[in-house]
Amino acid sequence: MTDSPTPAIRLTGLRKSFGAVAAVTGVDLEIGDGEFFSMLGPSGSGKTTVLRMIAGFELPTAGTVHLGGRDVTRLAPFERDVNTVFQDYALFPHMTVRENVEYGLKVRGVGRSARRARAAEALASVRLDGFGDRRPSAMSGGQRQRVALARALVNRPRVLLLDEPLGALDLKLREQMQVELKAIQREVGITFVFVTHDQDEALTMSDRVAVFESGRIAQVGTPAEVYERPASSFVAGFVGTSNVFTGEVARGLLGRDGTFSIRPEKIDLSPDSGVPGAVGLPGAVGLPGVVAEVVYAGPVTRYVIDLDAGSRAVVVAQNRHHGAPLAARGDHVRLSWHDEHVVEIPTSSKETADA
Ligand code: ADP
Ligand code: MG
Repeated sequence: MTDSPTPAIRLTGLRKSFGAVAAVTGVDLEIGDGEFFSMLGPSGSGKTTVLRMIAGFELPTAGTVHLGGRDVTRLAPFERDVNTVFQDYALFPHMTVRENVEYGLKVRGVGRSARRARAAEALASVRLDGFGDRRPSAMSGGQRQRVALARALVNRPRVLLLDEPLGALDLKLREQMQVELKAIQREVGITFVFVTHDQDEALTMSDRVAVFESGRIAQVGTPAEVYERPASSFVAGFVGTSNVFTGEVARGLLGRDGTFSIRPEKIDLSPDSGVPGAVGLPGAVGLPGVVAEVVYAGPVTRYVIDLDAGSRAVVVAQNRHHGAPLAARGDHVRLSWHDEHVVEIPTSSKETADA
């Protein structure tokens, strides 16, 4: 992790402009050897551009890229110890799976028997032993994705860059591949830098996540840190659903002006007894409101509450008991939660989120 002496990747003051478009506006980041690191952010936030600067496909406007302690900022892609897996796989359709995997070695003049051995090893690492003689067209989307992975792993790079590699797969397969990709990364021990706009994907797979916002990093941390302690309202809103309160609600609860966030699953819902100050949980703070929507979603039910103080809140409750929901539209309820789940958000989050 970051305490290792030489990080696998170090980005310093990295910027990239395309004419008038500032794609990356200042990224400082260290990624440790063997980390599964994700870059998460909405479309256009600069993730691919950062990846391409690490790979060497794009020259930074300013800043440096170090790989394994070496400044590679001005080196060509083939001079860097990295490989990239793209969303569209880019497999050669006229070649067999084995030939696809061997291709990079062949280009580099690796002999036939060594190629065979390494291709077999790479195919085994992605659980495709025995598929070497097939053509890509005779394989499923998930299998093709694994061939692309084997083709990148066969070069034994120190770092593997993956740009939305699961984007073309349907949800079920995508979830299977998320688990497999994580297992493969653990086995091969290579640093993975994984780009995605899907927050579930980033949270489930990564050791650490960088959340991108408009060409910069809004927060870096473990999935739990980023989810439980969002550094800005942008992060709170992008990584999962969150209730972000300001104004009257914040004053009522904090006793002063401010902005705070609380996750929907941390809130308890109880019927409003009408007794001022009475709350559903001992040691908890609470707010009265009226149920505006009830959305049943199988394992959970989502409630939208119009707070008396003038804001809306979302509450998610597990459906642990069958039978009636906790509340119905129009019911007067009280929301309660423990203080420890309230995250205060710095007001000028854009300036302070890097800390
Ligand atoms: P992401 O991968 O997060 O969706 P990108 O890094 O692809 O974001 O793009 C960041 C910004 O830079 C976008 O506004 C995009 O339109 C712009 N951009 C990316 N590549 C180019 C390019 N080659 N020429 C001009 N603008 C570009
Ligand atoms: Mg992209």
